[in-house]
This record gives sequence, structure tokens and C-alpha cells, in this order.
Amino acid sequence: MRIRNKPWADDFIKENEHIVEQSPYSQKGKWKHVFQEDQPIHLEIGTGKGQFIAGMAKQHPDINFIGIERVKSVIVGAIKKVKNEDVRNVRLLNVNAKNLSDLFADHEVDRIYLNFSDPWPKKRHTKRRLTYHTFLEQYQKILKPNGDIVLKTDNRHFFEYSLVSFSKFGMMLDEVTLDLHELNDPKNVMTEYEEKFSEKGNPIYRCQAHFPEKQ
Ligand code: SAM
Repeated sequence: MRIRNKPWADDFIKENEHIVEQSPYSQKGKWKHVFQEDQPIHLEIGTGKGQFIAGMAKQHPDINFIGIERVKSVIVGAIKKVKNEDVRNVRLLNVNAKNLSDLFADHEVDRIYLNFSDPWPKKRHTKRRLTYHTFLEQYQKILKPNGDIVLKTDNRHFFEYSLVSFSKFGMMLDEVTLDLHELNDPKNVMTEYEEKFSEKGNPIYRCQAHFPEKQ
């Protein structure tokens, strides 16, 4: 993703405190009070410019959406999308998702979306992949026992790596597709990357998986 420095980003983020949570760590365990309605929480990690989260929030007013995006100049795009859709069930967090258990209490989240996560193809960067086992440990902690992970990517290597990582962790695969767009699902909300890569003819891979119940 091309990242341009946007000197006005700090001010823009502050002006939109009804969309971007200004002190997210203090909301741990209290997210349901942040939203107008007490309803399931779906978390997207690496929200990018927000097309997915804004579209999903519009399509599912009965879900509360939280998007985490660490890059300021990127999250401003997501703020604009959320404003344009005029949805009230979205909060954005401008933080790094590496310490999720400082942001969420155990079982506070119902679903996690990983959309076109950075694939980190070099072996020495494996630990940075959002499906590395240290991330899965955190997802398991913050997800409800029946919660799940939904992943989309165009990167075959990252997809295969993630399936193996899920399986090694004892997760169950509920759905796997090697060509999401072939299904023509009218409810599929595309991300910016999904639009870009599918226009190039790349197939989009998707899977949905859940953790085993803890004994
Ligand atoms: N999900 C969007 C899409 O599909 O269009 C953006 C995909 S882009 C390849 C990955 C995004 O995840 C980037 O905006 C990056 O800044 C963000 N990201 C990567 N690792 C992150 C982390 N640990 N915490 C928060 N954001 C992260």
C-alpha cells in the first residue's frame, strides 16, 4: 500500500473521536458500552482504508464493528468511509494489534476478520504474520468460545501457511474456498485490496475457522 505522509492526520483523528476511539486500552472489557446497542462485536485487524468495515456495518446494523489499523495516514481513509456511510456501529482504533489482550477482555469478541493481511513472505518474518501461533493464542483468548476467524487473501502462500497454522493449533475449518468470486455471493463486501487483485484476475481465497472448546 502506498503510504503518503498526511500532516493533518492527527487533527483529523481527534476531530472524529466519535469514530476513532482516543484511549482504546481503557475500554478493555467495556466495549459494549462504547456502542449505542449491546450486540455482537466483530473485529477487523488491518482495516486499511475501511471499505470493508464501512460496507459491513451498513449491511449488518445488528453487529458492532471494531477496526484496528496502525497507520495514521491510512486510517484517515477509513474514517472518511465510515462517515460517508453514516453508520453508528463502527469504532476504529489507531493501534498496533500485537497486544490484543490489553485491548479486549477474555471472550469479548464474536468474530475476527483478517482481510489481505500483510503476507510477510520471508521466513525470518514468519512471526509477523497475523496467523502465526502467538496471534492465534491471543485470538482464542479474546474470542467467545463459539467465535470464529474469517480470512480473505489473494496470496496463495499466506493462505496455505494460515490453513496449516490453524490446523496445527487444533482449529476446525468450517469453510474453505479457492475462488470466492466464483460463488457470486451478493453479500460479499469487497475490501480495497480484494477489488484491486480480483480486477487483475487473481483468485480470492477465503476460509472460516473456529477454535476447539477448551477442556
Ligand atoms: N484490509 C485492507 C484491504 O484488504 O484492503 C488492507 C490490507 S493491507 C495489505 C494490510 C493493512 O493492515 C495495512 O493497512 C497495515 O497497516 C495493517 N496492519 C498490518 N499489521 C498490523 C498490525 N499488527 N496492527 C494494525 N494494523 C496492521
